[in-house]
Amino acid sequence: MTVSIVWFRQDIRVEDNPALHYAAKNGNVIGLYIEAEEQRKEHDESDAKVGLIYDSLLKLREQLNKLNIPLHIVKVETFKDQIKTLENWVDEVSAEGLYFNNEYPLNEKKRDNDVESRITKKGCRVERYDGDLAVEPSVIKNKQGEPYKVFTPYKKAWVEQHKTSRLKPLDAPQKQQYSIEKQVTDDFSKNYRDDIWHPGPIAAMERLQRFLGKVEEYKANRDIPSLSGTSLLSPYLAIGAISVRQCIFELYQHYNQDEGKLYGDKWLSELVWREFYRQILIDQPEITRHKPFNPDAKEVWVDNQEAFEAWKKGKTGFPIIDAAMRQLNQTGWMHNRLRMNAAMFLNKLCLVDWRWGEKYFMQQLIDGDFASNNGGWQWCSSTGADGAPYFRIMSPLSQSKRFDPEGDFIRKFVPELESLDKHSIHEPSDEQRTELDYPAPVIDYKESRKRALELLS
Ligand SMILES: Cc1cc2nc3c(=O)[nH]c(=O)nc-3n(C[C@H](O)[C@H](O)[C@H](O)COP(=O)(O)OP(=O)(O)OC[C@H]3O[C@@H](n4cnc5c(N)ncnc54)[C@H](O)[C@@H]3O)c2cc1C
Repeated sequence: MTVSIVWFRQDIRVEDNPALHYAAKNGNVIGLYIEAEEQRKEHDESDAKVGLIYDSLLKLREQLNKLNIPLHIVKVETFKDQIKTLENWVDEVSAEGLYFNNEYPLNEKKRDNDVESRITKKGCRVERYDGDLAVEPSVIKNKQGEPYKVFTPYKKAWVEQHKTSRLKPLDAPQKQQYSIEKQVTDDFSKNYRDDIWHPGPIAAMERLQRFLGKVEEYKANRDIPSLSGTSLLSPYLAIGAISVRQCIFELYQHYNQDEGKLYGDKWLSELVWREFYRQILIDQPEITRHKPFNPDAKEVWVDNQEAFEAWKKGKTGFPIIDAAMRQLNQTGWMHNRLRMNAAMFLNKLCLVDWRWGEKYFMQQLIDGDFASNNGGWQWCSSTGADGAPYFRIMSPLSQSKRFDPEGDFIRKFVPELESLDKHSIHEPSDEQRTELDYPAPVIDYKESRKRALELLS
């Protein structure tokens, strides 16, 4: 009886998983997941993300086992160990095929190419797919045949390409003729808020369906952090417990297959930002080395450890920034409007290198994703593709008044300010700060803004 191995990575799902789908069409399948603990630390990925991965794998296993597909969960140290482990498994089960979906950062790409050459040498077929984008990578090019660097024309071209691409997610595999014996289950570290983030592909799909029930309000509510106006799907998209294609297909179904509504939808646009940043990573993998996307960008950062420490702890003395950072530290997630505010505050107002912030975000985020995180930080620091202009510096005070007018979000995450009214909560007086044991501002906003504009212009 022939058997193939499906190497699960950032695609912890049974549906719309090209590697699994096509492997199962060719015969019996064994699922394998190999956590590289040391490598993940080197990439600054958070314990929260690892925890969600682990529990999602256990849920995935339940689904796979119903199809008579085993899932072995193995832990090693490095990418090199992953290759060795794959070689051993190929030998042990006499696998005739190894199937996996591509990953795009530099180290991952190099590892995958090594895997392909070493496993092929053993006489085992290697089949690779793209499962992480809604359109094929690298097909969207401008008139000069080059990748887009600006989002709006990219999105226009993306829509045209998407209309000709496969919309329907791939089916889960058929039940296999395989009897499952013992499954390897190594343990990983686990430290995440499972009361907020229910693991696994089924929980991800349920979350999507709940969100679609209010997708029409997304445009109005998406910028208000005190409302749950966004999908909260980013952790699931980051680990592949749901695919972007599944999201778009379900959105299309929600709109009764009305293309106009689909392509005009604001939420779809955000998914396309994800595609845009992924495409940038594919076209310019050097950004994995944290180089600015725009080589002419001004880099004027200073060694401001004090501000950086205060920012990390949520003790900058700017209530909206502190609430944002505490949301990140407590839940592993931060609202998009606040990610922009927190990033611009650290980078442009405190003049701290955006790479420090990028790294800290990655170490905390449950949805930590290299392409989107690097894209977001480079957008905010005006070093990136289609970045904000250098003079765009969000004012923590006006943003706070505009997007948290009643101060509800601040009250939730900065409880020492709970008693303040909706006017003073955005900028407590010196007396209130002393009385409530809340820190003085770590920078003078007006001075810092002036300095940033002078240095960055
Ligand atoms: C400095 C900074 C760092 C960021 N780091 C990450 C990160 O590590 N991982 C991550 O997934 N997103 C990141 N983002 C993008 C965005 O903030 C999150 O995707 C979003 O807040 C997730 O919440 P949601 O799932 O409710 O989003 P929704 O508003 O419901 O959007 C749906 C999906 O679209 C994608 N998306 C939305 N906005 C963006 C965007 N601006 N860029 C790329 N994709 C987007 C996400 O996959 C998201 O889940 C970052 C943004 C900034 C400004």
